[in-house]
Amino acid sequence: MQIEWAERNMPVLMLIRERFQREKPLAGLRLSASLHVTKETAVLARTLAAGGADVFLAPSNPLSTQDDVAAALAADGIKVYAWKGMNEREYYNAIGAAIAHSPQVTLDDGGDLTITLHKLAMGISDESIQYARETAGDLDFKALVKGIYGGTEETTTGVIRFRSMEREGSLLYPIIAVNDSYTKHLFDNRYGTGQSTWDGVLRATNALIAGKVVVVSGYGWVGRGIAGKAKGLGARKVIVTEVDPVRALEAVFDGFEVMPISKAAEEGDIFITATGDMRVIDYNTMLRMKDGAMLANAGHFNVEIDVDAVEKNAVGKREVRPFMVEYKLPNGRVIYILGEGRLINLVAAEGHPSEVMDLSFANQALAAEYIVKNRGKLTPSVTKLPEDLDIEIARLKLKAMGIGIDELTEEQRRYISAWALGT
Ligand code: NAD
Ligand code: SAH
Repeated sequence: MQIEWAERNMPVLMLIRERFQREKPLAGLRLSASLHVTKETAVLARTLAAGGADVFLAPSNPLSTQDDVAAALAADGIKVYAWKGMNEREYYNAIGAAIAHSPQVTLDDGGDLTITLHKLAMGISDESIQYARETAGDLDFKALVKGIYGGTEETTTGVIRFRSMEREGSLLYPIIAVNDSYTKHLFDNRYGTGQSTWDGVLRATNALIAGKVVVVSGYGWVGRGIAGKAKGLGARKVIVTEVDPVRALEAVFDGFEVMPISKAAEEGDIFITATGDMRVIDYNTMLRMKDGAMLANAGHFNVEIDVDAVEKNAVGKREVRPFMVEYKLPNGRVIYILGEGRLINLVAAEGHPSEVMDLSFANQALAAEYIVKNRGKLTPSVTKLPEDLDIEIARLKLKAMGIGIDELTEEQRRYISAWALGT
């Protein structure tokens, strides 16, 4: 039922599913995905299966799986290895199982599946690899990676990692950066995270946002969304912290106060990180915070807030509500860390609403099809989905929303493309 509700709100992906059902562009394809196991991902998985793919779904975060959705997908015949609340070992066991599926196409969110595959093929070993090997078995990983036509990446952080592999010359197969489509980051990162982060904070704390001082670290697509919605919820003041002068200036002109985190630490009631960076809120910053400050992350894994440091140094710890842990600091104050410092929107709430994931996952489905159509022709580099497909997704979404736009007249088309027709 949950999945049907999502399907109702994902009209573009459903149109793609209808076509996939007719044309079977993924017939016989072994596809492994590491994505948040949510009702929206279920709609994508069913769409890929409708296109003929043999789909294996692993999580992309140990805490984000919706167990009812995982069960429903398994009943559909889709291979799923996921539950909410996995430990590190179980999480990498799931990634290893997705590798044992011998995929020809990988779908990733954050890069764990692709990077694990690369490490296995390159003979690099660490703890995560040992766990992945427990389920991946003794495959010829080099040959497996050679057989991969390509992969996709859903989020900013994963794309950054793959670009760095490309620069180093260590990327072994082509990656389509779904995140870089306009119809992904402009909507999912900004409006999706903007709303679902607050959904997560509210479900975890039930705090009143009106009257609070909110600090948002990072003013990229995600930070812009979160800061904008904080205003709408009635925050008394929204402070932005940044390291990029242009983005900081943009935040100032958008009406936010900008200051270093060391100063913001003393003012904030609620802190939200959205940078993709590590230790944006370190232990010293926590020591400067007011008694009762709440900290959540909407950016990247569990490293933006230094949870390890507070775990080590706190003199008391108790769970006051689900996904809300109180730490007593040696200075006598308490702070609350929400969702263990992992993505609050996917841990304490349900991630982005279906309407916005419709756009992101339409990109994923078309990227999988594009990789299959162009197999053998793509080089091991990070590229965007062709812009005409990106624009087509926007056109279909507008149509589904019943919104019309204007078309250029022939005269206008000539005018805006000819340099000689001036004033
Ligand atoms: P972005 O690159 O557009 O923005 C990140 C911003 O953080 C940049 O402006 C950068 O200058 C700033 N920054 C970096 N280090 C900083 C520091 N120490 N202090 C303050 N600012 C700092 O990226 P984005 O698209 O906004 O994504 C941000 C993160 O959120 C990524 O990790 C991405 O994968 C993740 N993301 C999460 C969700 C979700 O559902 N929670 C959705 C989309 C993206
Ligand atoms: N896997 C990493 C990286 C960030 S995940 C981690 O867990 O820390 C951020 C991505 O989650 C976004 O790019 C967004 O597209 C995706 N996401 C948000 N809501 C979702 C939902 N309802 N279903 C599936 N994916 C979702």
